[in-house]
Amino acid sequence: PVRVRFCPSPTGNPHVGLVRTALFNWAFARHHGGTLVFRIEDTDAARDSEESYLQLLDSLRWLGLDWDEGPGIGGPHAPYRQSERMDIYRNVAARLLDAGYAYHCYCTQEELDRRRELARAAGRPSGYDGRCRSLTEEEIAGFLAEGRRPVVRFRMPDEPITFTDLVRGELTFTPENVTDYGIVRAGGAPLYTLVNPVDDALMNITHVLRGEDLLSSTPRQIALYRALSDIGVGPGFLPEFGHLPYVMGEGNKKLSKREPESSLNIYRERGFLPEGLLNYLALLGWSIAEDRDIFTMAEMTAAFDIHAVNANPARFDLKKCEAINATHIRDLPVESFIERCGPWLAAPHAPWKPEAYDPAAFAALAPLAQTRVTVLSDITDNVDFLFLDEPVFHEPSWHKAMKPGAAELLRTARARLLAADWNAEALKAAVLAAGEEHGLKLGKAQAPVRVAVTGRTVGLPLFESLEVLGRERTIARIEAALA
Ligand code: GLU
Repeated sequence: PVRVRFCPSPTGNPHVGLVRTALFNWAFARHHGGTLVFRIEDTDAARDSEESYLQLLDSLRWLGLDWDEGPGIGGPHAPYRQSERMDIYRNVAARLLDAGYAYHCYCTQEELDRRRELARAAGRPSGYDGRCRSLTEEEIAGFLAEGRRPVVRFRMPDEPITFTDLVRGELTFTPENVTDYGIVRAGGAPLYTLVNPVDDALMNITHVLRGEDLLSSTPRQIALYRALSDIGVGPGFLPEFGHLPYVMGEGNKKLSKREPESSLNIYRERGFLPEGLLNYLALLGWSIAEDRDIFTMAEMTAAFDIHAVNANPARFDLKKCEAINATHIRDLPVESFIERCGPWLAAPHAPWKPEAYDPAAFAALAPLAQTRVTVLSDITDNVDFLFLDEPVFHEPSWHKAMKPGAAELLRTARARLLAADWNAEALKAAVLAAGEEHGLKLGKAQAPVRVAVTGRTVGLPLFESLEVLGRERTIARIEAALA
């Protein structure tokens, strides 16, 4: 049975790269009817925060990426927060030391740095040189007498490590390039390099799907895995590995956590639909079919194939992300669109008084708005004219529309609108006729009417808007504009 994991470290705000990794693991698990384990890698007390942990949970829930084992659910391998599993790691480290798979290393940082410099200068590989691999009793006693405190270092095998990456194919790492590495800090704190593969082993993870930035740690983890299975930790099989491509931002540089468009919260605050955002993120390295950009998560999970993931870096394109989201909004049943607009039609997003909001008026225009918004927060500007006492006037729009002759046109339009039946078709005919009297085409004639009534030069179809706004308020606004 397939068991995959999503195992972020709770530092900072969740970012899109993280969500893409979660999504691919989720889709893989769901495709295979497997299990998604959600594990929190919070062994770095200096960087991890409770706030960030809670945000991770909240974000996955908002996205609808559900997990089968982990926080809030539990499971046979609980606890799923590494900070609560320290005894397990200490025990495993002790056993690795006993079995000779790991050793105490007394080198100081200065010594390591100096030898690394020398190796570099001589053109030799600059990883750990194995200095403490086989210390004598006397050497150890000497170091201890100096007050040195050792780290625990894993002993890499002296032969190449080869594995078949699910995305990249066969990869080989030679011993010169993958040297002995620390697994426990001086003082006893276990490191990511230890706890991540130990938990993957103990939690019977079958497939490790993660970002390309972790590729260099994979040969080390494979060697550690083999040692673990030799000392009886874990299921005794190696997981398969698949490394997802980098996500590139502006200027073809890796999309950094610091760039605003990488923060998940921004998408939530702007009113992206979870399904729209996920659809876009799915395209960062994968595609459902040639020339097809739009799909549901059900379609994605049905089709997802890790072998079809592209190894080349993917480019993050905000415009495309927005366009995909707009399509998902357009495709919602209108009732559901209305419901999802809810938060944006109330405080603190909406600028009108709560009692001014009229659900029937909104529902009447919702189908027209639905095809025009890119993100749900756009809705507020589209319908504010309905619920504000006075439209919001934008000075430049006003001047643009109120050209010489606009007042005359507005006067004529006012008279014709007053006489018209109050439905969109009749209102259009009234403004069309008013325009003809002044030698203006419909587009030119409706501009001053639109600005007078809605405050803007662009917006929802005008005559439907006037119909919903009602005769009294429409006329009053035209009069106010003429005053
Ligand atoms: N905690 C690691 C990270 O956030 C997980 C890496 C992995 O998936 O193995 O980078």
